[in-house]
Amino acid sequence: MCDGFETRAAKLLAWYDVNAREMPWRVPPAQRLAGVVPDPYHVWLSEVMLQQTTVVTVKSYFLKFVERWPSVGDLAAAKDADVMAAWAGLGYYARARNLLKCARVVTRDWRGQFPEAEAELLKLPGIGPYTAAAIRAIAFDHPATVLDGNVERVIARLHRVGEPLPTSKETLREFAKHITPPKRCGDYAQAVMDLGATVCTPRSPSCGICPWQISCVARQAGDAAEFPRKLPKLRKPTRLGIAYVLIRADGAVLLERRPDKGLLGGMLGWQGSDWAEVLPQHQEPQGVEWQEMPEEVRHTFTHFHLRLRVMKGSALQDHKPATGHFVPAGEFNPSDLPTVMRKVWDLAQ
Ligand code: SF4
Repeated sequence: MCDGFETRAAKLLAWYDVNAREMPWRVPPAQRLAGVVPDPYHVWLSEVMLQQTTVVTVKSYFLKFVERWPSVGDLAAAKDADVMAAWAGLGYYARARNLLKCARVVTRDWRGQFPEAEAELLKLPGIGPYTAAAIRAIAFDHPATVLDGNVERVIARLHRVGEPLPTSKETLREFAKHITPPKRCGDYAQAVMDLGATVCTPRSPSCGICPWQISCVARQAGDAAEFPRKLPKLRKPTRLGIAYVLIRADGAVLLERRPDKGLLGGMLGWQGSDWAEVLPQHQEPQGVEWQEMPEEVRHTFTHFHLRLRVMKGSALQDHKPATGHFVPAGEFNPSDLPTVMRKVWDLAQ
């Protein structure tokens, strides 16, 4: 027996009314039904933060941001360096640069109100099809199809889609679109995500408590955990590099801001070599005696692993660095650094 799409949506929404996850950017279903609407600024901010990052990690960053910048206009008026420092540790720093650009466009061109039309949302910096759909569904209750990793897994199992990801994305989108209801669109979008995150989990889906168990094809076949199929991952290369931690006699540390474009763009970091698969030829900064740390820093980015040799040096009070600037000990906050740079600092300590 198979549920029609209306029954399916109704079953999921009934499940969500009882099981919705609490998140600081969400309006719970009971309040939503009572007419409370989500703040599009909160929806947008959380969705940008959640790209490639877990809910647990995002919660504290989200709360920090909305406390410091309660509206999109406040964020637009913030200093770039303050926002980059507040973002440090969340990774994928292009998101933070686009976040600021987007806040400024929304404030300047849209008087601080996010547009509702997909075409207008897609013109904003850092907003792609996924984020536009999430804002349209969650903030404005439009029947937009939101397809993240959780939703892909649920849909692939529900229809037992044999085609592997990522080539099956459009097939999954069509299936997902077909079962999106015309009402309670925001709750529905969050309900599918919650179902994927808490019931239809990657390794061992809890089909016995799933509101969609009757119509799920993979469950009937008994092989749900094998879906979604995925193309084999390419092996990540390893790059090597050197980082220099220089501490002046008064405790100030030498940092430099990385170029806006490229990895960790716009973030503070230590001086160092380029990163390459063969350790790049590199002239160490002059006028300092360097001591190599006995261990390396290891960090994994999306496309490669990184191994960094860490050199630590002490500088006299009148040391004049060729690049970068000394940050006084009292103003240096390691949590303003991106994670890999923080690891370098921890090791040098
Ligand atoms: Fe996932 Fe099982 Fe529900 Fe199918 S029945 S959607 S496999 S939890």
